[in-house]
Amino acid sequence: MIESRPRSSNAREVAEELRRRRCFVMVSHVKPDGDTLGAGFALGIALKRFGKRVLYFQQDAVPRNLRFLPESNLVTARLPADLPDDALYVFCDMSDWRRAGDRLPAVLRENMLDIDHHLGNALFGKLNFVLENECSTGCVVVHLLRELGAPIDAAIATCILTTIMTDTGGFMHSNTTPEALELSAQLMRLGADKEKITQEVFLRKRVAATKLLGRIIAAMAFEHDGRYCYSYVDDAMLAQTGADGEDTEDVVNVLLGQDGVDVAALFKAIDGEIRVSLRSNGAVNVQAAAARLGGGGHFRASGLTFDGRLPEAFEGVERALIAEGL
Ligand code: AMP
Ligand code: MN
Ligand code: MN
Repeated sequence: MIESRPRSSNAREVAEELRRRRCFVMVSHVKPDGDTLGAGFALGIALKRFGKRVLYFQQDAVPRNLRFLPESNLVTARLPADLPDDALYVFCDMSDWRRAGDRLPAVLRENMLDIDHHLGNALFGKLNFVLENECSTGCVVVHLLRELGAPIDAAIATCILTTIMTDTGGFMHSNTTPEALELSAQLMRLGADKEKITQEVFLRKRVAATKLLGRIIAAMAFEHDGRYCYSYVDDAMLAQTGADGEDTEDVVNVLLGQDGVDVAALFKAIDGEIRVSLRSNGAVNVQAAAARLGGGGHFRASGLTFDGRLPEAFEGVERALIAEGL
């Protein structure tokens, strides 16, 4: 049988589906960030206000710096047995449902809604609401809230502003459009707690994290006339500093920030796998480079999981970057 070609949906179609269903599972991607969680919480809160039943699936723990988010205490890796057959699984901020991890029970395509802003989204859902020009999945959710006529209260506003601030790196990345800033201003007027987000997500660091940062900086290497900077973190460095994987988020931006650097990579050899974060200042498409190795993301920010050992990962990633013009 020939599968019908997946397609993008419009806000009206998605809103109709949301009105029709009674039970929802908001699904966030592994190693969750502020966008995947904030987008799901914002829509989840709005749906609850319409009397719907909402659960939040996440197979990893909520990172310490995102536990201030409303609903974060409700996140679970174990879904109850009494979910109706027509529960809608809402995948937020992932181009492929597999990014939800291997602990999510099998879900029929019929029951998948895909809400995202990544390049090259696989359009894996029954409905796919993907807006590549939005800076965060939370901004994509705002279109749905408007279509639903759902009021944005302070809790929802804080969730959405978190998605914007995390995915724009605190309004610094090139995806910080005038529209993103205007929406952020509106969200602050609606009660979004920008100070809390700034403190929790960007400013407060554990001492162990700062010590780890020092180790990663000490291990920086430069190639291609200084245009490519990479470094790594492994289990031993975590043990020596008392830090953990959560403390490695954002460190790749320090590498990209070094004078003369166009592309940066941070290799995280933690718990038996190597996850690679790639960042670009626009000269090289790191989404395409990551896609060559089974990963994905955006033009200037992408990631992948490398199957192999660290020296092979260094080589494989450099080769993929060279193929994309490094
Ligand atoms: P990170 O470096 O983990 O902050 O990820 C940067 C971007 O790449 C985000 O948009 C992620 O969703 C995406 N990304 C990270 N890892 C993967 C992966 N293994 N597969 C697809 N996309 C990924
Ligand atoms: Mn994300
Ligand atoms: Mn995102």
